[in-house]
Amino acid sequence: MRFDVLTLFPAMFDAVLGDSIIGRAREGGLVEMNFTDIRDFSKNKHRKTDDYPYSGGGGMLMTPQPVYDAYMSVAQGLPYKPFTIYMSPQGKIFDQSVAAELAKKEHIVLLCGHYEGVDQRVIDEIADMELSVGDFVLTGGEIPAMAVIDAVSRLIPGVLASEGAYENESHYGGLLEYPQYTRPAKWHGVEIPEVLISGHHANIEKWKREQSLINTLLKRPDMLEKAALTKEDIEFLEKYKRENGVTL
Ligand code: SAM
Repeated sequence: MRFDVLTLFPAMFDAVLGDSIIGRAREGGLVEMNFTDIRDFSKNKHRKTDDYPYSGGGGMLMTPQPVYDAYMSVAQGLPYKPFTIYMSPQGKIFDQSVAAELAKKEHIVLLCGHYEGVDQRVIDEIADMELSVGDFVLTGGEIPAMAVIDAVSRLIPGVLASEGAYENESHYGGLLEYPQYTRPAKWHGVEIPEVLISGHHANIEKWKREQSLINTLLKRPDMLEKAALTKEDIEFLEKYKRENGVTL
């Protein structure tokens, strides 16, 4: 899979995406990432890439020409149009299901805005999608783009050490993950749940499912409305609520 990021601040990316799991995936050739400096495409002698918005108000807007030329430096000559995303607080909210959809693409271009954003005409011309990382406004699209690249890359086969390691994780199946424990088995006087050292596979799986349901009920009850729950799940949750006085 290939990512191309169009940004005014390419140096921000390697610090975050050059190490650990994603860094190794890049070294191993599972994920290719290129960071294109939009400023390199400015035709202004001071490498300026922004100007005042016609609508007035404070702040500067990124001008269309350098953004478009940076995009074309990636897209030109390809036999297809790379799927192009403008990172924007106005976009569709990024979540695990969007990450899973994006992980099926071969080539994604991410445009990072800065200042007051980007001239609308170039967004309309190149972007296939606008994507937001949440209902808040950041100074630039770089941190959102890093979050998208990280979340999508770890879904690519071979990136995580064990295949399907993400399948039990929070959000994958519409529930939050169960609590996890490692050695030592007793720490600060607190022992890990006995079932985990029972060696009884079916009981361990049942415990994980129930703990996921409890976690989701207590932390993100809104998610339960959309989760694919079995009859047993619903009965378990009703019983848990009755016995623990949970009124959610
Ligand atoms: N004036 C814009 C508006 O009100 O919609 C906000 C511009 S913001 C200060 C600058 C850039 O940061 C945007 O062009 C976008 O690329 C990025 N950005 C800010 N918040 C974001 C978010 N929640 N998700 C994705 N990108 C965001």
